[in-house]
Amino acid sequence: SLNAGVIAVQGDVSEHADAIRQAATDRGETAEITEIRQSGIVPDCDLLCMPGGESTAISRLIQSEGIAPEIQAHVEAGKPVLATCAGLIVAAEDAGDDRVENLGLLDVTVERNAFGRQKDSFEVPLSVTGLGEPFPSVFIRAPLISGVGDADVLAEWDGRPVAVQNGSVLGTSFHPELTPDSRIHGLAFFGE
Ligand code: GLN
Repeated sequence: SLNAGVIAVQGDVSEHADAIRQAATDRGETAEITEIRQSGIVPDCDLLCMPGGESTAISRLIQSEGIAPEIQAHVEAGKPVLATCAGLIVAAEDAGDDRVENLGLLDVTVERNAFGRQKDSFEVPLSVTGLGEPFPSVFIRAPLISGVGDADVLAEWDGRPVAVQNGSVLGTSFHPELTPDSRIHGLAFFGE
């Protein structure tokens, strides 16, 4: 069984846990979910999810709890991470916000809330490199990926990148955990 960690200091956690379990089942695997609120757990995880929520809060708490360097070590060891929405903001190289200490796991720059306010949330089917049928993508006060360095763009909406990958790290502006479709989790954790 895989040891799957979900960063749980703030944000949506149970939806990611369900999607990880489903993605594992689809590949004939099982996953044990651990919610991470303190240091010392990430080193035992085979894979990690960084959920959506409020990026300034998530950043502050993973720093004060000493979780941030463990996530970086996890990536340096080549292990997979899926970072969604606020998770993507924290994982990016730069978010242009002093309250976010970026982890630099994805070579992209982002702008918080650039897809509009909460009322502008929307769902759209997107074709994603590595997936067959379009993926139902839910955007909620989503970050705009404003610059792409040495990262692969897996999906675009309206001509803008919304899913990116650097090695074992996959980031999405949208929320793949909010639809019953677990293929993005499958792609992030088990590959194509
Ligand atoms: N607007 C949030 C932020 O900037 C992200 C929104 C989300 O994760 N749904 O942190």
